[in-house]
Amino acid sequence: MPSETKTTCPYCGVGCGVIAAVDEKGKVSVRGDPDHPANYGRLCSKGSALAETLDIEGRVLYPEIHGQRAGWDEALDLVVSTFQRTIADHGPDSVAFYVSGQLLTEDYYVANKLMKGFIGSANIDTNSRLCMASSVAGHRRAFGADTVPACYEDLELSDLVVLVGSNMAWCHPVLYQRLAAAKAARPAMKVVVIDPRRTATSDIADLHLAVRPDGDIALFNGLLAYLAETGAIDENYVGKHTSGFGEALLAASRGSMADLSDATGVSGMLLRQFFRLFAQTEKVVTCYSQGVNQSFVGTAKVNAILNCHLATGRIGQPGMGPLSLTGQPNAMGGREVGGLANMLAAHMAIENPVHRERVQRFWKSPVIAERAGLKAVDMFEAVADGRIKAIWIMSTNPVVSMPDAAAVKAALEACPFVVVSDIQKDTDTARLAHVLLPASGWGEKSGTVTNSERRISRQRPFLSVPGEARADWWQLAEIGKRLGFDPGFDYRGPADIYAEHAALSAFENKGERDFDIGAHAEINAEDYDALLPFQWPLRQDGSSTARFFADGGFFTADRKARFVPVTAPALEEADGCYPFTLNTGRIRDHWHTMTRTGKSARLSGHIAEPYCEIHPADADEAGIGDADLVNVEGANGRSIIVRALLTERQSRGSIFVPMHWTGETAPSAGVDTLVSSRVDPISGQPALKMARASVTRHVAK
Ligand code: SF4
Repeated sequence: MPSETKTTCPYCGVGCGVIAAVDEKGKVSVRGDPDHPANYGRLCSKGSALAETLDIEGRVLYPEIHGQRAGWDEALDLVVSTFQRTIADHGPDSVAFYVSGQLLTEDYYVANKLMKGFIGSANIDTNSRLCMASSVAGHRRAFGADTVPACYEDLELSDLVVLVGSNMAWCHPVLYQRLAAAKAARPAMKVVVIDPRRTATSDIADLHLAVRPDGDIALFNGLLAYLAETGAIDENYVGKHTSGFGEALLAASRGSMADLSDATGVSGMLLRQFFRLFAQTEKVVTCYSQGVNQSFVGTAKVNAILNCHLATGRIGQPGMGPLSLTGQPNAMGGREVGGLANMLAAHMAIENPVHRERVQRFWKSPVIAERAGLKAVDMFEAVADGRIKAIWIMSTNPVVSMPDAAAVKAALEACPFVVVSDIQKDTDTARLAHVLLPASGWGEKSGTVTNSERRISRQRPFLSVPGEARADWWQLAEIGKRLGFDPGFDYRGPADIYAEHAALSAFENKGERDFDIGAHAEINAEDYDALLPFQWPLRQDGSSTARFFADGGFFTADRKARFVPVTAPALEEADGCYPFTLNTGRIRDHWHTMTRTGKSARLSGHIAEPYCEIHPADADEAGIGDADLVNVEGANGRSIIVRALLTERQSRGSIFVPMHWTGETAPSAGVDTLVSSRVDPISGQPALKMARASVTRHVAK
């Protein structure tokens, strides 16, 4: 009999349960866990192919210094002495950690503790900044804390599901399967897709609103105004549980339907249909993802959506509520332990002196960072201009995935000291490391992750760790100890770290903040190992809640939600040189920069090479034929060569290029080299979906 281990998929934020079986010959197979509440046995193409990505080809097996094999002691001592010297000479803000939504919560916890509580800087940020920072900021503005009020089951209980900027069919496929099955079983259920592209998700849509890029604020402001005009506001909920409705409504004033149609790019007829549907349907869930978050007005978009749910009181009840979908497997876990430069652990706020004192006292730490650190884009700019002189990058490949990626590469090339922990040796980022540390990968590491509905699940090991690879938390704790911070980092294993995180979440937290898991503060290794998936909060009596805020109880001082007045950005002037809006995103069968999914021939069989989706009429005007090679040039003057895919799914004036391919796997560099580093000023999330670009037929020289 093969041995079986229950674990969690390491790809998207759906967080599906996986059963991994290893037979007598060591062959691994996977299937969906029928008992896991996220997927009930389902897996998507990526999850099903997990076993095909586990070979050790290309793995980092030993620490390396300047490309030469080294021992752990030698490598760690070099990291410690360099960080120590840099901090002594230039202060704690001259060093940084750039981490990842691939890290487990325990890894994230130790990284955050080391940087904020012991080094004394908040320069720790994460690639999750690229996927959900605008949702975090929107939640904090409206709810007083970063709390997702709804759960997956709400999709199935809803009568109307609105998907905004979410190609759920490809990016959260198992959730899409659940939604499609619910709709098939209950034809009266309606699905509305709001997306500039007609994606695979639109296949089940009753309405597709091909909104202008960044036209979502105007659209949801228009909806709020319509709800007020037609008497669809829940006056009781608004009066009892919220503040600021009048100001938000004033800001939302939409003018004529013709004006709104101009601002959104959607016909008045379709807008009216959607508004009526929303106003007349009690059970509404609005899911949103990168099309909302990855924008220079991402936080305002989130609040425009939240305003409509608060105005109708459709929040926190079965089948109702806003539900942000996280991209990464543990973006949510990172948020819980303060893995963002502007947050403290346990959802506490770095700008709040009471919270800072509380965390410092719990950690018994010598210092505590007193102000927010540098967010991802700012962090690499600080590397470029020399303010940051030593950086440790864990489990991520920013040379490909960051906006203006070529500038990130140049910054790291010039940085005096770059440490990279990863499983893959030949990533574009790992190649720039002065010290390369071998990390353990999926199937080897042990810890917890939290999915988009606040559900904490275990990732469990079922493979032996190759070479001298070590868990990320172990590497961080070793550095902490060698920096002289002992006790504080003397963990026996991830169970100790999880218990400490649970204890901190409840520390002096009596009744003030209902999102702790303090019931696990005393958990032992055995119970930690046996942990079943559960949603936070986990109360002392073992009860939990799948939903928040049906009866108010927000995490603001007066326990009321805040309406946030938002205004739509002015329409951008047409740019003659760069006439297209470039939208970047994912395809169905690859994950991020393909360091793992690229190993599966089956996954690459779906779409084998990068492409540029363009409307046939736009292609015709540019003299581009189907499958022609084209130069896509960003407003920063950089260009890539990809194949043209002519399709009416694409709106006129906009193009789509997937983000997975890198310099090594594409005919030229990845698409993120074309995207400027423009960010949302509130969340710091880059506008990866709205760059300017030109497209011309490629002529071989
Ligand atoms: Fe993994 Fe996401 Fe697919 Fe589930 S939907 S199997 S979590 S990639």
